[in-house]
Amino acid sequence: MTPTRILVLNSGSSSVKYQLIDMADGTRLATGLAERIGEETSALHHRPLGTGGEERRREERLADHDAALAAIGEQLDADGMGLESPQLAAIGHRVVHGGLRFTEPTLIDDAVLKEIERLVPVAPLHNPANITGIRTAQRVRPDLPQVAVFDTAFHSAMPEHAARYAIDVETADAHRVRRYGFHGTSHAYVSRRAARLLERDPAQLNLIVLHLGNGASASAVSGGRCVDTSMGLTPLEGLVMGTRSGDIDPAVVFHLRRVAGMDVDAVDELLNKRSGLVGLCGENDMRVIRRRIDEGDEAARLAFDIYIHRLKKYIGAYYAVLGRVDAVVFTAGVGENSAPVREAAVAGLEELGLAVDGELNARGGDVPRLISPEYARVKVAVVPTDEELEIAQQTYALVTAR
Ligand code: AMP
Repeated sequence: MTPTRILVLNSGSSSVKYQLIDMADGTRLATGLAERIGEETSALHHRPLGTGGEERRREERLADHDAALAAIGEQLDADGMGLESPQLAAIGHRVVHGGLRFTEPTLIDDAVLKEIERLVPVAPLHNPANITGIRTAQRVRPDLPQVAVFDTAFHSAMPEHAARYAIDVETADAHRVRRYGFHGTSHAYVSRRAARLLERDPAQLNLIVLHLGNGASASAVSGGRCVDTSMGLTPLEGLVMGTRSGDIDPAVVFHLRRVAGMDVDAVDELLNKRSGLVGLCGENDMRVIRRRIDEGDEAARLAFDIYIHRLKKYIGAYYAVLGRVDAVVFTAGVGENSAPVREAAVAGLEELGLAVDGELNARGGDVPRLISPEYARVKVAVVPTDEELEIAQQTYALVTAR
């Protein structure tokens, strides 16, 4: 029997998200999350899917990623699909930063791991955790192909004029300072899925994809290739996010150093963790922000308006970059669920051919759908993202092609 199952691991510094997917028919077999690894209060939520099994929650100390993966293995074992299973074809890892070198899903060996390590300075929050996840999985199944799927890969097609910052070329090249973009797995999946929804050939389509989650990014996609994206050297650039500022005058950093005596790490923490919606109104959950607006909260209103203003600027910018837009596509936690955000983002853009139908927009659901009126020249769509499925598909395609 040819193995057809892929385990997808998304390893963070203190968490591991996972999904087991059978690529023979795309069935999701199990999903789960190990959280607060290394703390006293670690927990594992595990949900077998398709078997009628109930979610199981175990609260026990998971000292490190090895312990977390062992606990995940036990849970999968209990459902008869453990890590030792001969049906497992490969493990697919989400890796945040692939730099310039990794533009495709890549079979992991020592040289690849070394290169992912070399990229730690440009992804200090993410790549170390991804490496830990890979090493842990290699210890458990050294015989199994392990594949890295990079968040930056989809954006590697960006032309130089979009990828380069206008700074001294020698300095930029010496330190690999350029725009890489992130959330690429999501932008790739969503743009392909949107083409299916629109019943169009992806090669003929120009799309603006808005991935609005706690982290948020926009991309301009032409013929299935990314031509510009809002995140840069790191995920800090671009849209207003849950806790990140997005675009800001870099002189703010010098200013805070000079007038507030903040060192680089303090400004880093400010812009990544205490800015965005949290910085503006103390809250990053869009549901709570909308509730507070309804109750007349001024800070929440202003935070929402700043968030929408930035979003609109990117829609306009990418409209100009693409020249012609077939659809604007919303995805991720906010994009998929917040009708007020979608409505406000395209309000006033009728002259550009953009409009949202109030009733279609208000209708919930977790399937890809159009929310623009029949007459709209530019379609507006909601397409739930599925980064795990995309990682599984890319991993499976690579190992079956070997
Ligand atoms: P993500 O990073 O894609 O998981 O998105 C997480 C964010 O989505 C949360 O911080 C919320 O702001 C937002 N979100 C999730 N569910 C909803 C909802 N039903 N309505 C509005 N926003 C939501």
